[in-house]
Amino acid sequence: MAPSNGTILLLKGLTKTFSGHNAVDHIDLEIREGEMFTIVGPSGSGKTTLLRMLAGMETPTSGDIILRGTRINDIPANKRPTCMVFQSLALFPHKDVGDNIEFSLKIRGVDKAARKAKALELMRLLRLPDHYYGRAVNRISGGERQRVALARALAFDPEILFFDEPLSALDYKLRKTLEKELKDIHRETRKTFVYITHSLEEAMVMSDRIGVMRDGKLVQIGSPQEIYTAPTSKFVSEFIGDVNVLPVAVLPSGRLKAEAIAHELVAPTAANGVGRTGYLVVRPEFLRFIEKPGDADNHVVGRLYNEYALGSRIQYQVRVGELVFVLEKLRHEAFAGGLDQEVIIGWNAADSIVVPDT
Ligand code: ATP
Repeated sequence: MAPSNGTILLLKGLTKTFSGHNAVDHIDLEIREGEMFTIVGPSGSGKTTLLRMLAGMETPTSGDIILRGTRINDIPANKRPTCMVFQSLALFPHKDVGDNIEFSLKIRGVDKAARKAKALELMRLLRLPDHYYGRAVNRISGGERQRVALARALAFDPEILFFDEPLSALDYKLRKTLEKELKDIHRETRKTFVYITHSLEEAMVMSDRIGVMRDGKLVQIGSPQEIYTAPTSKFVSEFIGDVNVLPVAVLPSGRLKAEAIAHELVAPTAANGVGRTGYLVVRPEFLRFIEKPGDADNHVVGRLYNEYALGSRIQYQVRVGELVFVLEKLRHEAFAGGLDQEVIIGWNAADSIVVPDT
């Protein structure tokens, strides 16, 4: 866990308007000292525009950016104690690894021996072998270049590091490795990291807190666990991958009525004011095949029509009238029967949540 001391960065009503459209729309946010905060959202939701304003590369239309109590709206990027790590690996291609990492130290007049010592220290932190120091950056791999870019940013010793989708150009396996390494580096350096990505999966692995963006607004802020288990909207629940989302009406009794399901369903939050209609959300791993209706708080009867091997898990699709339910089971819990047969699937009320229409 990050040491959530005070607030390092405070955003108040931060807005950026392009041609009459709010790309970033009245964002209020507190980023805590030393935390890894990830902004996640679909393409066009305003992540890059928000990050560019924080880094001083874009001027806000209105609102304030306050760094440790000082308004920094008008301070240019190169005068801010912050640094951006880009997806596009903005390294000097013909310089060697050492020169790239030492760039900011050289500008500050740090002598050669001290620069080299710092570069080697950062290379070790980033798991780059010492003999890469004199190697041209165009002779190392994409993943290694990304590590050099991060070492260069850390050499600047910024108070906050901003990351603009730094891993999105890398292949899956390397991305997964670097996600974990980045989390380790965050822990070791204790710096504040603000990261943007369109992948909630990536955000989940690394972050202390996540802010989900939609149409220029932050629609939910929470820990990875909160975002996963307690989404406050259909949008957030669906953003995280396969999920069962069922339109429901909340009955006066607090029980739920879903179209295409003859009997009523139960869910914990249904009674306390979600409104007349909403969505029942159940994650695929919480559904299970059951023998008879009473074996779980809720059940539906359907036809198993597809299964997919997902590595360690198996995904099943069950058709219930017009609806499709998705279940995921570990291999040792695999369904014993074959495809195209009638099955009963069930889930416990406590493993579901009801979210409003919006
Ligand atoms: P992506 O994940 O695709 O990078 P994003 O979430 O980072 O998307 P932004 O790049 O911040 O989204 O864009 C938000 C909105 O602002 C989009 O509608 C985009 O077209 C618009 N926009 C961004 N920059 C400009 C600009 N310089 N001029 C006009 N419109 C812009």
